[in-house]
Amino acid sequence: MVLRSLELLVLLFCPHTSLGLANIIMMLRTKATCVNLFIFVNLSGKYSLYILSNNGPNITLFYYFCTSLIYSDMRKGVLVTGGTGYIGSHTVVELLEAGYYVIIVDNLSNSDESVIDGIEAITGIRPDFVKADCRNIETLEKLFEKGRFDSIIHFAAAKAVGESVEKPLEYYHNNILSLINIISLMRRYNVPNLVFSSSCTVYGQPEVLPATEQTPRLEAESPYGNTKRICEDIIRDSVKAYDSISAIALRYFNPIGAHPSALIGELPRGIPNNLLPYVTQTAAGIREVLSIFGDDYNTPDGFCIRDYIDINDLAAAHVAALKRMICGKMKENFEVFNIGTGRGVSTMEIVKTFEKVNGLSLKYRITGRRAGDIEAMWADPSYANEELGWYARKSLYETLRSAWKWQQRLCGVDISDE
Ligand code: NAD
Ligand code: UDP
Repeated sequence: MVLRSLELLVLLFCPHTSLGLANIIMMLRTKATCVNLFIFVNLSGKYSLYILSNNGPNITLFYYFCTSLIYSDMRKGVLVTGGTGYIGSHTVVELLEAGYYVIIVDNLSNSDESVIDGIEAITGIRPDFVKADCRNIETLEKLFEKGRFDSIIHFAAAKAVGESVEKPLEYYHNNILSLINIISLMRRYNVPNLVFSSSCTVYGQPEVLPATEQTPRLEAESPYGNTKRICEDIIRDSVKAYDSISAIALRYFNPIGAHPSALIGELPRGIPNNLLPYVTQTAAGIREVLSIFGDDYNTPDGFCIRDYIDINDLAAAHVAALKRMICGKMKENFEVFNIGTGRGVSTMEIVKTFEKVNGLSLKYRITGRRAGDIEAMWADPSYANEELGWYARKSLYETLRSAWKWQQRLCGVDISDE
């Protein structure tokens, strides 16, 4: 294994490696056969292997060529809208660790710029950040003019179901106009790839579980849910009309947990609506008691069932989707994937497992059903497994541990020994 200083210099200073200084570069060379074997291992453990024949004296040119090949699927960047949010920030970590160049655009309406520090602390790379609103097409256009990305992951949206019932127009305005702006600019600036954050909410309560991508979409229960359905339709119609654009919609099930480092996680504003932040805040004494909504459902233990997916697994699905698009593996110009574990877990199972893995006891009471709650929902993720090569890998234990560790960090508890 040889790495001569001149070659190292070229590797470090050729343009594409500015993306990949985080990569460990190993080079095996068998001089007898004049074949160079390059193994590039990046921080997330994924590797690329290239074999080049080299008979010429100027081997550095081959290295240059080789790095170009290696970064051919990632040398352009990714614009991540909503990238300082919960799912966006974890996805940015995955993207940076996979060697992509990332630009975040977020209006910080539901997140904080300090999230960028967390991302940098985890990856050693500070992603570009632009504070801007996706509803403002003029501001967005300035980013497109620079042409530093050929893919977009569009997370930016308002997401509180209850609030959307009270402020439907705000939700339609934000979630739909933002998407229309993004697609319009993708057309104008020839940006080909879009990954969109959709939701299992589009299935409503399916008659048959688990939900597959063919499960019929039902009328949405809330304006928020309706924006996801409408956005999917806008994308489907746009992709049909403008063949320069391809898109993948990922229908998320219930993301929970935090990065194992506890440097980033969910930052709910005000009283949490979702189960996990309510659980962790109750455990931390911020909330007095967790209300469990309903124990009389037609499920094995009477409690609602969901498919809780680890946030880091969910983030990894975006990288898999992007890779599929960039590498030209799509079967159709618009594809949809369920991103869940395939495992249905009841609310009480979450509470009991949380108590067990974190060695604490949670104050809870059982109350009446929450209006509009779906009884049971879990995914059939086999299409994503087969086509994206993506799997939910984290155990519920690990996920619930990370959720608590993150909450402790938010509360200022020293978790450095854990
Ligand atoms: P989040 O609120 O943490 O992140 C969304 C980010 O978008 C925030 O940082 C917010 O400031 C930003 N944003 C909102 N409107 C914007 C605008 N007009 N311009 C620029 N930035 C804007 O939410 P999240 O949980 O990370 O969700 C990300 C996406 O995934 C959303 O589209 C959401 O609807 C979808 N989704 C979330 C869940 C879930 O349970 N968290 C489930 C299914 C789908
Ligand atoms: N839930 C609960 N108490 C809470 C919040 C949620 O019992 O304070 C239950 C809720 O009824 C549902 C499950 O937890 O069955 C997941 O709720 P969440 O809002 O997190 O996700 P969604 O219902 O949107 O899938």
